Formats: sequence, C-alpha cells, structure tokens
Amino acid sequence: MKGITAGITAADIVFDREHVWHPYSSMVSPPPVWPVSGAVGCRITLADGRELVDGMASWWSAIHGYGHPRLNAAAHEQIDRFSHVMFGGLTHESAIGLCRRLVSLTPGGLDRVFLCDSGSVAVEVAIKMALQYHHARGRSEKHRLVTIRNGYHGDTFAAMSVCDPVTGMHGIFKGVLSEQLFVPAPQVTFDGEFDEADIAPLAALIEQHCHELAALILEPVVQGAGGMRFYSPAYLARARDLCDRYDILLIADEIATGFGRTGRLFACEHAKVSPDILCLGKAMTGGYLSLAATLTTAGIAETICSGAAGCFMHGPTFMGNPLACRIACESIDLLLESDWKRRVAAIETRTGQGLAPCADLETVKDVRVLGGIGVVELREAPDGGVLQEMLVAEGVWVRPFGRLVYIMPAYTISDAEVDCLTAAIFNVLSS
Ligand SMILES: *Cc1c(COP(=O)(O)O)cnc(C)c1O
Repeated sequence: MKGITAGITAADIVFDREHVWHPYSSMVSPPPVWPVSGAVGCRITLADGRELVDGMASWWSAIHGYGHPRLNAAAHEQIDRFSHVMFGGLTHESAIGLCRRLVSLTPGGLDRVFLCDSGSVAVEVAIKMALQYHHARGRSEKHRLVTIRNGYHGDTFAAMSVCDPVTGMHGIFKGVLSEQLFVPAPQVTFDGEFDEADIAPLAALIEQHCHELAALILEPVVQGAGGMRFYSPAYLARARDLCDRYDILLIADEIATGFGRTGRLFACEHAKVSPDILCLGKAMTGGYLSLAATLTTAGIAETICSGAAGCFMHGPTFMGNPLACRIACESIDLLLESDWKRRVAAIETRTGQGLAPCADLETVKDVRVLGGIGVVELREAPDGGVLQEMLVAEGVWVRPFGRLVYIMPAYTISDAEVDCLTAAIFNVLSS
C-alpha cells in the first residue's frame, strides 16, 4: 500500500464511495465527496489543484483558519513531550492550563470542569450530571428533560433525545429513546421586541411538569444545526428565571456558539445569564482535534459527589488528552490576543451586505446574520447535491443543509474572501 503523500487516486475515490461512511450520508447512493490535498488559512486545496474559499470553518471549529503556525507549533511541542497519558490518577500542565482558562472565561460560577471527547459526549455528561444531582438530593423522580424544538445537541442517545423530534427522526428510535418534553422554538428574533407570549408555552410546561423535570437544555440565542435560528436573549433570561423558580437546572449547549461566534465570547452573555451546566466543544481546539468540556458549579459538583456513587459516573479513555488540551490552550490564547470582537463584527457587517441581494430572490424566505454566522433560508429545499456542485464550481466551500445555505467562516477571513463567499451564494441561488 502506498503512502498517503503519493496523492489520492481514482481507486481511492471508488474505495471511499464503497466503504467509507460520511456524516449523515447514504451508502446506497453516496453523495459526491471532494478529495482534499491541503488546507491553509481560509483556503482548502482540492486534489485536482483547485482552491476553494472556506465558508464553513469545518462546522464552526477552525476559527483561526487551517494550519495556523502557533497551533502547529503547540501540537509539535506537545507530541515531542507526550501525546497522551491516562487521566485516571495522573494530571498534566495542558489539562490544568485549559481548565484554568475555561473557569476564568466562562460565565460566573462555572468552576468545575469535566473534559471529554466530543460535543455529543459533553451533552451526555451534562444530562448525567443533572440526573445524578437530583438523585443525590433524594429527588430521583426529577429525571426528564425539557427543551425547545429545532434544537440540535448531538448524535448519541441522550443527546438525540433532546434534538428536534422531526428532523432527528425520533420515530425510528421509539421505545428506546427517552421521551423528553418539547415546546415550540422561540419566535421573537434576536433584535425583536420581546413578547411575553413567546415564553408562555415553556412556562406552562415547566409549571405542569416541574416535579419530574431535571433540566432545561437549550442552545442559547442561536439554534445551530436544527435550523440556524436566532432568538431573543430575553427568552433566555426568562428561561433562567423559570429554572430557578421550579428547581430545574439550566443546561446551556454552547458547543456551536462558544468562543466568540455570536459576537460575545459565550452566547449566554447576550442575556447576562449563567447556566448551571455549560457544554463546550467545536471551536475549543481551533478545529485541530476533537475535544469538549462540561462545566458546572461547585454546589452541583459537591451534591453529585455526596450521592450514592460518591463520584460522577463518567471517565472516557482519552479524557484530558494532552495533545488536544495543549492545542486548546493555544487556540484560546490566540483568540484572546486577537482583535476577535472587531473581526467578528466586521464579518457580520460584510456578510450582511453581501447576502442582502439574496433577500430579493423569489426562492428566498429569509436572510439573517449574527456575528460570524450568515444564513439564507430558502422557501423549499433545493437539490442539495446540485447546489453543492455549483458552489464548488464558484470556488467556495459552502455546504447547503436542507433549506439553508449558510456560512460561519474563520474569524481570520479577509473582507475580500467574505465577498467571494456571499457573491458565490448569490450567483448560485439566482441562476
Ligand atoms: C455540533 C454540536 C453538538 C455535537 O458535537 P459533536 O462534536 O459533533 O459530537 C452538540 N451541540 C451543538 C449545539 C452542536 O452544534
């Protein structure tokens, strides 16, 4: 077998089609995939030499662009010392450094950190924390979750149970998936004037079911993969009050929104709210490796550890992976040393200007922009495959999803590159 540096062959592509599963894709009629030979900054180079401007930051994660010299150096340095040691009974500078940073940056009170491997696991951990918390207080009947429709929290079973029941195809998993409680997604937009009617369904449901509810889980302010919807921070503030009033924990899933994406370091800051449990992931390593974290308060951690088990019942093999933690420290430092706030604001303005003409197209239902997120919502789902081919032909990497064509580029993207992305989207949608 030849080395990977020899370049991808036609046979490799055939093998990929026949044997390699890609995210949410069919193995009966696999969608096309484009082989990549390199990625630097905001550019992805395809094996045929074409260069694409990257609008996705590899699903919210590569916030500094690809192949950043400082992240590369940090990775090399850690590999030369040690890539991994188990976290049971051992500790190291990289994990401690990362947890220090997370405690100091996240909303107040969140100062107990559980490191895990991926966003979905961070959500599993958050849910398990909520259940162990109530169990330890002698309230084991409080074991259900409430959430809002159009959410996305990951692909493992507990995480799936709080994803939107329609887009998450809960019907397939009936009888196995925990049945959680759902309210309609908030309707008041990010800048809209808040209407108390928006929170009424959540208030009513919580009042009715508080005896069996462990936690409310939601994506603060921006619902990501479940519809790319932006809602009013006032909703989040009301939700916080409801949780306090009815003895329910608030779990904020900031796996997509964390580390500056919405224009604040964490989206909870828009509502000046601290959750009881916070999930982080995606951008934490600047898109280099899978790593996530679940943070909670000292009080909740102490209650959990005073319960029947005497500990929190979780411990992944690769917990606190030194290589991932070292890169995460460097990525966070790089972010904080940069002028990220101004850059994200500039991306917001530029994206808004660039996508504005799309609003006049008959096929377009809505155009919305918040921080480093730009969304064009179509009235009907297009043929995603055809649209994808057209976007690649325009020289951009933008991956349509259902009725949505959206971008969430690296914060280091140039104005000219943003223009490239938005022009390509307009060209493709208007052709
Ligand atoms: C991506 C995402 C997850 C799942 O993270 P994975 O790393 O893909 O497991 C959970 N919640 C939100 C809000 C996400 O955007």
